[in-house]
Amino acid sequence: MADCIFCKIAKGEIPSNKVYEDDKMVCFKDLNPQAPVHLLAIPKIHTEKLSDVDEATAGYIGHIFSKIPEIAEKMELGKGFRVIANCGEYAGQTVFHIHFHILGGKPFSPSF
Ligand code: AMP
Ligand code: ZN
Repeated sequence: MADCIFCKIAKGEIPSNKVYEDDKMVCFKDLNPQAPVHLLAIPKIHTEKLSDVDEATAGYIGHIFSKIPEIAEKMELGKGFRVIANCGEYAGQTVFHIHFHILGGKPFSPSF
């Protein structure tokens, strides 16, 4: 999608601090970190949000989750980490290319 900032990051058209990349996904550091480690994992296919995932896009999402353990290990998140997807404006989503926040490097409380 032409005007999507995360599509541009996925294509390497704008810079990002990438920690992992393959043919289906990119994982990069969030510009405005909310924890000592704050990464965003995105598919290399444009889908707006979690509620739009279908058979065609589910493979990309499954692939992201298959790589999160490897990324977490690389980023020294062995003690634990949190994964969040904000789905829709009501839930706080601001960038409408599906993404998973990976947060760690500090303890989190059990509740939100
Ligand atoms: P959300 O509110 O779930 O849509 O999260 C969007 C996230 O993208 C926020 O945490 C922003 O800090 C982050 N963000 C926006 N633009 C960039 C960018 N160019 N590079 C890295 N992170 C970004
Ligand atoms: Zn996009």
